[in-house]
Amino acid sequence: MNASSTHSRWVSIATVLVVLVSGVSAQKAKSQQQDEDFARSVKEWTTKPEFISPLVDHLPRVPGIPSPKDVLGHHIGAPGKLTYHAEAVGYYRALAAKTPRVKVFSIGKTDEGRECVVVAVGSEESIRNLDQYRAYLAQLADPRRVTEEQAREVIAKAKPIYHVMGGLHSGETGPPEMLMELAYRLAVEDSPVINQIRDNVIVTITPVAEPDGRDRYVDWYYRYKIDEKSEEESFGGPPYWGKYIFHDNNRDINYSQVTMRTLLDWYLQWHPPIMHELHESVPFMYTFSGQAPQNPTLDPILYGELPWFSNFEMTQMIKYGMPGVWTHAFVDMWSPGYLGFMASNHNGMLRMYETFGNGGANTMKRKVDTGEATGGGRVSPTSREWYRPLPPYKEVVWSMRNNTNYMQTGVLSALQLTSSFPKVILENFYLKSRNSIEAGKKEAPFGYVIPAGQRDMTRVARLVNILRLQGIEVGRAAAEIKVKEGTFPIGSLVIKRDQPYGRLAKILLEKQDFPDQNLRTYDDTGWTMGLMNHAEVKEIADKSILDIAVQPVESLDIKGTVSGGQAPAAYAIAHYGSNNMITLRYRLKDLKVEAVEQSFKDGATEFPAGSFIVSGNQGGKDTGARVRAAIEPLGLTAAGLAKRPDVPMHELDLPRLAVYSTWGNTQEVGWLRYALDKFEVPFDLIYKERVKKGDLRSSYDVIVVPNQGRGGKGLVYDIEPKSKPIAYTRTDRFKSLGMYGESDDITGGMGIAGVAEFEKFIGAGGVVVTLGSASFFPAEFGLTRTIDAGRTSAQFYGPGPIVEAEILQASHPVFYGYSQKTISVRYANGPLLQVPERDRGSQVLMRFPGGDRSVMSGLMRGANEIRNRPAIVDVPVGRGRVLMFSTNPCYRWQNFGEFNMLFNSVLNFNDIKSAPKTDQAAAGQDK
Ligand SMILES: [Zn+2]
Repeated sequence: MNASSTHSRWVSIATVLVVLVSGVSAQKAKSQQQDEDFARSVKEWTTKPEFISPLVDHLPRVPGIPSPKDVLGHHIGAPGKLTYHAEAVGYYRALAAKTPRVKVFSIGKTDEGRECVVVAVGSEESIRNLDQYRAYLAQLADPRRVTEEQAREVIAKAKPIYHVMGGLHSGETGPPEMLMELAYRLAVEDSPVINQIRDNVIVTITPVAEPDGRDRYVDWYYRYKIDEKSEEESFGGPPYWGKYIFHDNNRDINYSQVTMRTLLDWYLQWHPPIMHELHESVPFMYTFSGQAPQNPTLDPILYGELPWFSNFEMTQMIKYGMPGVWTHAFVDMWSPGYLGFMASNHNGMLRMYETFGNGGANTMKRKVDTGEATGGGRVSPTSREWYRPLPPYKEVVWSMRNNTNYMQTGVLSALQLTSSFPKVILENFYLKSRNSIEAGKKEAPFGYVIPAGQRDMTRVARLVNILRLQGIEVGRAAAEIKVKEGTFPIGSLVIKRDQPYGRLAKILLEKQDFPDQNLRTYDDTGWTMGLMNHAEVKEIADKSILDIAVQPVESLDIKGTVSGGQAPAAYAIAHYGSNNMITLRYRLKDLKVEAVEQSFKDGATEFPAGSFIVSGNQGGKDTGARVRAAIEPLGLTAAGLAKRPDVPMHELDLPRLAVYSTWGNTQEVGWLRYALDKFEVPFDLIYKERVKKGDLRSSYDVIVVPNQGRGGKGLVYDIEPKSKPIAYTRTDRFKSLGMYGESDDITGGMGIAGVAEFEKFIGAGGVVVTLGSASFFPAEFGLTRTIDAGRTSAQFYGPGPIVEAEILQASHPVFYGYSQKTISVRYANGPLLQVPERDRGSQVLMRFPGGDRSVMSGLMRGANEIRNRPAIVDVPVGRGRVLMFSTNPCYRWQNFGEFNMLFNSVLNFNDIKSAPKTDQAAAGQDK
């Protein structure tokens, strides 16, 4: 305690200044008993005296209120200690049981069924009246509900909620630890700055944003990483964090994962004006300032608030003598898909830190200056820059406690600022919400129309329901719409911009116009929902759209229809590109289902190639009830036919399907697994263990190799062997390991022996489908010996734009359900494929026209490099074939318009008749 007396003086001065500014009467710290053991331990674990601040070098002891150590058995930041999710929740509950300043809410479940909680900390008065404070924020979030004068009254009475989240990324282990100490400190400390925070702000905490991954990582830490002595001998992390994905839980733009959706639902009920995510990567602490490229649709107030906060934090921490805090040149404000953007997207404020973590809780020497830029930065993280006046050291011994000190000092500084200007924060929140409505009345586009009667309404429904999930209001037109852009039928869906989340609607639906070709960005540059869904969305510049009468749509549910009389000869189900077609096939898996190879008409209804035919009577049983029951919930269009259509067709027998995963890159595989699970497609997830066992053909007909890693070599050799085998297996002690696959040693990859098994599989009639970067594999390892795979130049830059693709073989089963020759696809940075001239006509199914004009949304610099390059090739090999996608037709939970190219490949796996070599009937491949 004494060691920090000079620091304490600075705190008091800072507090007095803040207090003067904010008008809160000054208080002196009352004498409060301090935890001497804490101060001693923390001093010992902090590796240099300057890595701590006077805000966190002490901890009060309050009889009857449990500190983290009272429950966990150790102080936060103890070397070698990580806390499981349930233990953390247990601590918060123990704390809440003993103080009226803390409350724990259960808000839902994770993907694996763990409980999600939010912890609220504030003054007794705040916690007692939480519902009232929540109601105030709801009023400010929707300014249509209050007059300006009422808003002022609400602001006078309300308090901002500041939400802090840790543990979204499981390898970033520190924040879930730090947050427990933060909650305790905020609840019990009696000092001017904490009292001001407690009185003026309600702090809410997500203890662990990804509880499933947290437990898996802590298991892994105790099994392997606790013995790590240096960063050189790292055993890496477990093959999985969450059920399906790793860090893409921070890219889940459509909130597909249960855990992320749970948090969004909570957000929309509580409206915290600030959401603060705690991450770990760069040294020693980066605080997000919202740098360019910035999305210009978001409120300019936000772009003032972000550096306001980050500069205050940096200044405070420099004042405390803490080196290495900086504010710029890392993450930008372009993509709206990061989890914390739920705040900015809804007129609040996203905040974010990256602190320096060791991927565990071991103290170790870290080389900070690797001579390379890190992350999104362009310069070494230790250089002195205008935004980094006191840079990090080039080399450091770093500990969990250092990390805890930095994060907690930062968050407390942010809370100090918030508590000094609580009314400004509330006013800004209200104004940003109001401005969103006003912008929708003043600036085109004034709205969006999604015309009724589109060929496939199931993708329209998905799009609308994702907007609804985000709180965006959608209406159904009560009459025909006539605007300058055209006439749209009754029932068309209207998204008006003059609503609180009108800005977000525009961000999601508009074409992304990247502001500067020379800027780089952290994630995707394009996400336009209409293009991703292959659904028609009309941007409306005619202001009269705001006056169109609509009925609010809660959620859009498309009911399928079966026309025609009873007891028909056959049912036809139109393939209009719905992703539900594959679900239908699997729901009817015990029935014979065929696909027509040419379109036909039944009355006015067109049934395009790929449409399903189910005989009305199979095995003496009427199939009508089964078909009808399946069609309706899936939103498909069917008809009972008096006779089977007179066109060629083939049977859609179901393949024995495998999905191949490396152990080192399971995330993109996870997105595909998620899609297959959602669309009810059964498959085996296989790893090198199964491949090396051999005889793949006896088990499988189709192996999909999802986008993973950077090329063929990575896919084949995968994780570098370590000093000992690294098992991923479930044990009594480590129950969350060994999920989604098991291995006695995840290192080494399938190797050449595995490649040989793939070769045998294809030679024996198997079908391999490679997606995105996985398409380097068959080219580089000679499975498709005539196909080459190249890379774009160093000047090329295509971070996830949406580009045109031209279908060259419209009758190929891959394109069943697609009616346009040119479609929109997300550019996946897959290989630049090259097919010998003699085979191009038969093997190239789709290509990129390339050039700047083919970029439909987002940024592609050097778009000429992809000119006329194949996007999908179909290569017959031996008795089998390899379908190589340079695109990724199953990207995150996002490019729904492309999913069918993969689904069609699966359903028609043994019915592909490409010239010149295939003769499936003779080869008897149909099984
Ligand atoms: Zn992170």
